[in-house]
Amino acid sequence: MTTTLHTAALDDLIGDIVLHHRPRHESGTVPRNIPFLAEVPFDRFGIAVATTSGDVFSSGDADVPFSIQSISKVFTLAMALQGTRTGRLWSRVLREPSGTSFNSLVQLEAEQGIPRNPFINAGALVVTDHLMEETPDAAARLLRFLTEQAGNQEGDGGRQGPVIDEAAAASELASSSRNLALAHFLKDFGNLTQAAGAVVENYVRQCSIMMSCVQLAKAGLFLANDGQGTAGTVLSRNEAKRVGSIMLTCGMYDAAGEFAYRVGLPGKSGVGGGILAIVPGHCAICVWSPRLDAKGNSLAGTAALADLSDRTGWSVF
Ligand code: GLN
Repeated sequence: MTTTLHTAALDDLIGDIVLHHRPRHESGTVPRNIPFLAEVPFDRFGIAVATTSGDVFSSGDADVPFSIQSISKVFTLAMALQGTRTGRLWSRVLREPSGTSFNSLVQLEAEQGIPRNPFINAGALVVTDHLMEETPDAAARLLRFLTEQAGNQEGDGGRQGPVIDEAAAASELASSSRNLALAHFLKDFGNLTQAAGAVVENYVRQCSIMMSCVQLAKAGLFLANDGQGTAGTVLSRNEAKRVGSIMLTCGMYDAAGEFAYRVGLPGKSGVGGGILAIVPGHCAICVWSPRLDAKGNSLAGTAALADLSDRTGWSVF
């Protein structure tokens, strides 16, 4: 793998990625259950690369905050793995690709309430419940974690740090029947200790955190850097490797195989249009473009990462 590019070359390259991949015409979809995401202009496009040597490169709308949605699931999993009860966590959620959509009910029913992995909604609800057993407001803990790792206002030229968009969360919660159904299934199978409604509410607030590409790339750097984050150790080297493995196999839901084929990097998407991708040992990349493909992954974001990987040789293969 070619991992070293000169600063100027990387600056030029990501500038070029923005030129080529920023959508010129509206195509793709927006999530039905989160109305405010439809209001984000289709031609927003940003990319940021945070390197293990401490540099951050960015281009396009890389400083514009967007809704991180399911990218939050990588960080809640990391927080859960920081604790001492990981054996219990892994008895409640598997580590297999689901091959089904991120909010599918059928598999959860067929498999007796044990979600396939922590990155589908059912799995993230279990991780949230696990965190809430010790920290009732797991979303607030996540926000603190992200603020610490992403760097805050001062180091960021006065820009706003991560925030929970409570209005967006309330509006998503009002149309969360499917996530509530998943939570009630989990509860019925004995795989939720808190009330289903409380877990969904906390989960939706995690998804409603607003961050920019630059902030997400910095916050995800520990995954490329043997568990060492911008603000100290997040995970051991082995745990960081394992989170990367789950991203590779499960991070893009039922498009994980296609993403591995096209991009060759561990990634995690969110329906806000962001994708966090990891080049182990070298950098964390965050790309954002709000319109989605049929599987709920950013259309232009995936194409941009495929292009970037082809042009740099960045790949785990
Ligand atoms: N909040 C969204 C949901 O639960 C997150 C889904 C996603 O980003 N894939 O439906």
